[in-house]
Amino acid sequence: MSLLIRGGYVITSAADKEDGVIENGAVFIEEDRIVEVGGYEGLVKKHPDAEVKGNKKMLLMPGLVDGHSHGGGLTFIQGGMLFDFLENALIDWAYMVGIDPGLNATLSAVRHLRNGCTTMHHNNWGEEPNRIENAEKFIEAYRKAGIRLAYSPGGRNVNRLALDEEDFIETLPPDLREFALPMVSYDKSDFVDKYIELFEELYEKYNGDMTRIIMGPSWVQGCTDDFLERVKETADAHGKVQIHIHTLQTPVQKAYGLKKYGKSLLFHLDDLGLVDENLTLGHAVFLTQEDIDLLAEKKSSTTHHPSCNLAVRNGISPVYELYRAGVNVALGIDDKGINDDEDAIMELRLIHRLHRVSGFNLSETPALSAYDVLGIGTINAARVCGFEGEVGELKPGMKADAILVDLKEVTEDPWVSPDLPVAEAFIHRAKGSHVDTVLVDGKVVMEGRKFLTVDVDGLYEEVRRAASRGIGKEQRAFADTLQKIKPYYQKWYEGWDEMEYRPYYVMNSGI
Ligand SMILES: [Zn+2]
Repeated sequence: MSLLIRGGYVITSAADKEDGVIENGAVFIEEDRIVEVGGYEGLVKKHPDAEVKGNKKMLLMPGLVDGHSHGGGLTFIQGGMLFDFLENALIDWAYMVGIDPGLNATLSAVRHLRNGCTTMHHNNWGEEPNRIENAEKFIEAYRKAGIRLAYSPGGRNVNRLALDEEDFIETLPPDLREFALPMVSYDKSDFVDKYIELFEELYEKYNGDMTRIIMGPSWVQGCTDDFLERVKETADAHGKVQIHIHTLQTPVQKAYGLKKYGKSLLFHLDDLGLVDENLTLGHAVFLTQEDIDLLAEKKSSTTHHPSCNLAVRNGISPVYELYRAGVNVALGIDDKGINDDEDAIMELRLIHRLHRVSGFNLSETPALSAYDVLGIGTINAARVCGFEGEVGELKPGMKADAILVDLKEVTEDPWVSPDLPVAEAFIHRAKGSHVDTVLVDGKVVMEGRKFLTVDVDGLYEEVRRAASRGIGKEQRAFADTLQKIKPYYQKWYEGWDEMEYRPYYVMNSGI
């Protein structure tokens, strides 16, 4: 099947900036790949039989990529869970209503696709190595919905309840200590074997064109050295698949690295040999200049989730500094986008605005441009999902993942200068709801905002039915007991702030 997708503007690649923009252009697609890119008039003459999609009022561009999510179709906010410091939220979220993994994944895929994401990374969160049945339900649901996927099993084999958990539970009264013991005392090396087994099984079964199976141990302070070393060894044995790990998300995590290892958690990862081109840090908020230099030198990546970082009171990742150092920074939404709806375009806008730091040196490196930000949401994020060179640009030979954005509201409400570059118009004025048509792997998944792969009304009905059942007695009792532990837990972290930290961004004055 061949398709000719056209737009009044085509942004072919964020890396090529203005040189990559074609006015009245088109992309010719055969099966799953882009064959030709150029002017519409020339291409339509050359391929008169191709089915044409799009029109002159649309912007054609590469599909966006969410480099960090946990597949939270039904969001915490929808589940009635509010945000707080991450450490507190982790306790509070025990009340979150759960729905079937397949249902949740389909909902997550629909929300991503309708806002212009054609690829997403689902890092599955879980205490135990996530059971294969759940992983299969997720992956199959994403496939059916038609989204390109990076899937990483998660897991922690230490510090599940609190950091330095064995000392922490000594601070609890006997009844709570007994309740907490199974969360602290378990077979840590059996966990590692099971994790690697699960990865191998999923890789064997699903790794391919539409799905990349990557590694996602939950966070540095949640992994024993042995676990991290096995992850690195396994990733490298499979052609250096990506290792995605939450790192230095909060000041508490930074303090833990200094207390436990006498260095930043990133340098601890480096001691174990993990800092490499296939390492991606989720969040990366509490970095030092040494950390940033190391990431640049080793060609590692970070994912940036500004809304999530603000929601759970992490702070702001120093993306301006990371960018200046040449680190690969990629978009992540982390299930907590600013409108609570997985709108990748709004998230890109927030990235564009958040890192416009103040100062007196007016000739300093300019703030991120629209193209820089588009790169974060396309090329850079494709790399962290294991699809480098395959998606993220509209170039011959690449996979046909593209979106058509309706420019009517963006440029005709009532007027926008024709001199304004279309990428700037998109970053400043577009929304997920302006995405009209979505193509993944050469297949039309959504057209005129109607889904061709999912019965969205039926899905919503099912989600409502499942979610309104609420949580069971057992889950409520567990969550209630965790609330009793919370004051001890909050006390545990008192005094951990005895460390040097000077923020990168001076956003206002003090003292
Ligand atoms: Zn996350």
